[in-house]
Amino acid sequence: GERRLRLAASAFDTSALGILALDAALRVRAVNPAYCAIAGRVERDLLGRKLRLLARRDGGRTLGGLMIDAVAAAGAWEHEQWNRRKGGEKYAERMTATAALDADGEIAGYVLVVSDITRDKLDAESIRHQANYDTLTGLPNRSLFIDRLRHAIGAAERGHQRVSVMFIDLDGFKLVNDTLGHDAGDELLRQTAQRLLASVRAGDTVARMGGDEFTVVLPNATDPQFTPSVAQRIIDSLERPFLVVGREALVSASIGIASFPDDGQSAADLLKHADAAMYRAKEQGKANYQFFTESLNEQANERLAIKTGLAKALERRELVVHYQPKCDLGSGALVGAEALLRWNSAELGTVAPAKMIRVIEETGQIGAVGEWMLATVCAQCAAWRARGHPNLRIAVNLSARQLRQPKLVEQVALALKRARLPPDAIEFEITENMIVRDTEHAVAVLTRLHQMGIPLTMDDFGIGYSSLSFLKRVPLHAIKIDQSFAADIGTDENDREIVRTIVEMGHGLRLRVIAEGVETEQQRDILRGLRCDEIQGYLLSAPLPAAAFESFLAARSRPRPA
Ligand code: C2E
Ligand code: CA
Ligand code: CA
Repeated sequence: GERRLRLAASAFDTSALGILALDAALRVRAVNPAYCAIAGRVERDLLGRKLRLLARRDGGRTLGGLMIDAVAAAGAWEHEQWNRRKGGEKYAERMTATAALDADGEIAGYVLVVSDITRDKLDAESIRHQANYDTLTGLPNRSLFIDRLRHAIGAAERGHQRVSVMFIDLDGFKLVNDTLGHDAGDELLRQTAQRLLASVRAGDTVARMGGDEFTVVLPNATDPQFTPSVAQRIIDSLERPFLVVGREALVSASIGIASFPDDGQSAADLLKHADAAMYRAKEQGKANYQFFTESLNEQANERLAIKTGLAKALERRELVVHYQPKCDLGSGALVGAEALLRWNSAELGTVAPAKMIRVIEETGQIGAVGEWMLATVCAQCAAWRARGHPNLRIAVNLSARQLRQPKLVEQVALALKRARLPPDAIEFEITENMIVRDTEHAVAVLTRLHQMGIPLTMDDFGIGYSSLSFLKRVPLHAIKIDQSFAADIGTDENDREIVRTIVEMGHGLRLRVIAEGVETEQQRDILRGLRCDEIQGYLLSAPLPAAAFESFLAARSRPRPA
């Protein structure tokens, strides 16, 4: 007996678990050192008293009452809670209560075994933190952002206030990632987060949606001047160079803005609309902000419809190629045609190529569509060449994305080989903006195409950068003056002078000069006077389906005045 008691007593004193003995009235009869350490109290303060925590209420009952009932019914009671040490420090404890029985088997008191579970609780909270916060930047992630936005909308509804949502996309981030590496990219995103936080007020939320996309909620944006001023501050702050992995990196921000209640009632709508406005900002040349408008919404919906429809367009054979003739201004002879993509969609009607090319590029379908286009044009050209037009050349437009396709040169070579065509049976029309970005790579690919013997034409010349250095770096065969010049050449003296200059410069570089969008005889005559080499436009013919172009070809193959 004695010995067992002593053993029990030493276990009581040395246990890492806190142990409390309570009498039937829940007063503390004994407490071990471990409990005193966990709870940050001394034995003297506890003995003979009731535990304050058992007086706490949970659903209208005291914890003590719940404990007594649970022990009576099930023999034990378990409970976890946050508590405070005497000094005020928070800790989490788990307690298990069992009955202490007297000689008759009646409940004489309770034994509470208490463990410190602060660490476990904190781990659980950090997991919850990870579910709500972006690990790279520490900013709220998408789900917490949506949550905050919902709250802000609720509060604004009650207080008749405005909430603004900004969708921010970095311009040029991919380049930093590709050239300086992922560590540099990560560092740039972390610094971006800091700059964004420094650009907003304490109550605003800055979140990271993923990649280089960030969002901001301004819960109290009732003053109409406020949101644009924050947007401008963000643009300015991100324009300063970043120092990452010892190198300077430059990016900028395109921002779309949508506000509650005018632009949407739900968090999802506001986010979608801010995203659509951000697209618009990108289109406007980046480093700017745009507000959402209803027409933007229509564009976004249309983009979505095109995107989903396009996936089926190729297999349903809804994509077709039209051909628009080009004639020599001196002899009037037909010198070739430009292939232009058309989509006759069962659901959407005829979709304009300018619209669809952008979507095709965004969705990454440009590879498949471009390959199809090339194969179709090559096969068609070979057929026409075999039917009495042995020198026919067809121009194909190349988009910037296509130029970045890793296998482009091989694809082109294969398409020519399959159709048994010489390289100069086709021609590529390129634009300046595809060379501005990623110049080295673009020039390298274009040089390879040139070395294969494929003529290259600079399209839309005169509206872009019109940089002479590009003209010198890319091995060109011709330049095509943007159609806006032909449109105004009869009325606008300036445009006429610009065209004169472009023609002279082009001839100085031994390039052929083509004018497109020529609609009237007056325009044609002026262009002939300016010594332009070729024309293309409705005056000659609109783009034609293959069969109609073949008739045109037959009628036009003999030289005669254009
Ligand atoms: P672009 O290369 O500048 O093509 C000329 C555009 O002007 C064509 O519009 C053509 O139909 C139109 N056009 C021709 N003659 C006249 C005229 O006398 N007056 C006026 N006002 N317009 C005229 P389209 O077919 O809608 O193509 C628009 C743009 O879409 C093209 O501009 C080109 O950048 C792009 N595109 C078309 N097909 C393809 C393609 O297969 N691949 C790629 N990458 N882009 C394409
Ligand atoms: Ca073109
Ligand atoms: Ca053009």
